[in-house]
Amino acid sequence: MNLTSKDENLVLICVLAEAILLCLCLAALMVCRWGKTCSQSLPQHILDSFPISQVGSTDGNGNDHVISIGSTDGNGNDCAICLDGFMENDIVRELRPCSHVFHRECIDLWLARNTCCPICRRSLL
Ligand SMILES: [Zn+2]
Ligand SMILES: [Zn+2]
Repeated sequence: MNLTSKDENLVLICVLAEAILLCLCLAALMVCRWGKTCSQSLPQHILDSFPISQVGSTDGNGNDHVISIGSTDGNGNDCAICLDGFMENDIVRELRPCSHVFHRECIDLWLARNTCCPICRRSLL
């Protein structure tokens, strides 16, 4: 009996399913092995709970989300991920548990792979 295209599809689906199953097993193994460390992604709802602010002294629009970074105290004026200083109008995110501040795009990328603060390693879960 010749294989019809339907049978070929079936074989393909079986192979794919096996490959996916193997990947899932590997992923489960990795989670088991590293689950207790920071090496997992932070759930989106937790990420969303950290406030986003715009750097600036005053914007004159009564925007109460504007925070002041880059004053003369010399502390906490750099993003610890990209090591760039915070510039006026940069969008930053503050990690509530430890009050550390990073560029939003930097910390969002970091938290897609980690659940700890890059500075103090505090768990954000
Ligand atoms: Zn940054
Ligand atoms: Zn921290």
